[in-house]
Amino acid sequence: MMKILAIDVGGTAIKSALAAPDGTLTGLRECPTPPDIARGILQVAAGYRDYGAVGISTAGIVDHKQGTIVFSSAALGYRENQPLSAQISAALGVPAVVENDVNCAAVGEAHFGAGRGCGDFFCLTYGTSIGGALYLNGRLYRGSRNMAGEVGHMATHAFGRPCSCGRRGCYSEYASATALVERAMAVDPRYCDGRAIAAGLAEDGALRQAVDDWADEVCVGLAAVIHLFDPPRVILGGGIMNDRIFVDRIRQKLPGHILPAYDAVEIRGAETGNRAGLLGAAALALEEVGRDAV
Ligand SMILES: [Zn+2]
Repeated sequence: MMKILAIDVGGTAIKSALAAPDGTLTGLRECPTPPDIARGILQVAAGYRDYGAVGISTAGIVDHKQGTIVFSSAALGYRENQPLSAQISAALGVPAVVENDVNCAAVGEAHFGAGRGCGDFFCLTYGTSIGGALYLNGRLYRGSRNMAGEVGHMATHAFGRPCSCGRRGCYSEYASATALVERAMAVDPRYCDGRAIAAGLAEDGALRQAVDDWADEVCVGLAAVIHLFDPPRVILGGGIMNDRIFVDRIRQKLPGHILPAYDAVEIRGAETGNRAGLLGAAALALEEVGRDAV
């Protein structure tokens, strides 16, 4: 059985592992993200053997078909339109695929997580901002310019807060994990991350109210997605959702935001956790180059 070398490029670290077709990861490693990412990936790859393809998950906007990084934040040292998959494939002598981290998370959930057995779902990730990906008819739907599912910059408040994108009222500004932490820290500065917030919920009424207000903001965006696509399932990812207490609160709040006819939609927490990038990159490589060779 062919194994995939799975690479997850983040702002601070490159994670890597060998992935078997059943999603088993071995040889997990992590190193700081270097300025020259292609070179960093090749250095990482030198530590592995016996793989038949490379799957790469990365932050930024990726043209998956061309294998190029169209745009990334300054924190990642890609050149504009850098042909990453061609560089890696040429140097290692095996096929390489690259896709952005949110799309990878969705494909990983489809194969190894909360999307199993479900050909259609919408997957959202809540972190410093919000990402989204649409899995449709058993595959990723990318749109005409690889930007389908960018729900984080969907306006949920007309004339609302300014966003880093230059517009106002974007969903990310109100419903991201960062937005939750800001609300919670306004109650008490010790509620500085998801774990502390989850732990404080039972006995702090003001914190409960802050979380409920955030959950309402999350639901406003979910309602738009659900009314637009009528998906059977919506998967909520990002570190914050590992605390299922937040997923549960959102699920309880959702009926107040959608038409009753949509009530059957399933809201699930993502299951691949901090392996989302690796598993997604592996699943994508398996989908596209691996199945023939398995
Ligand atoms: Zn925005």
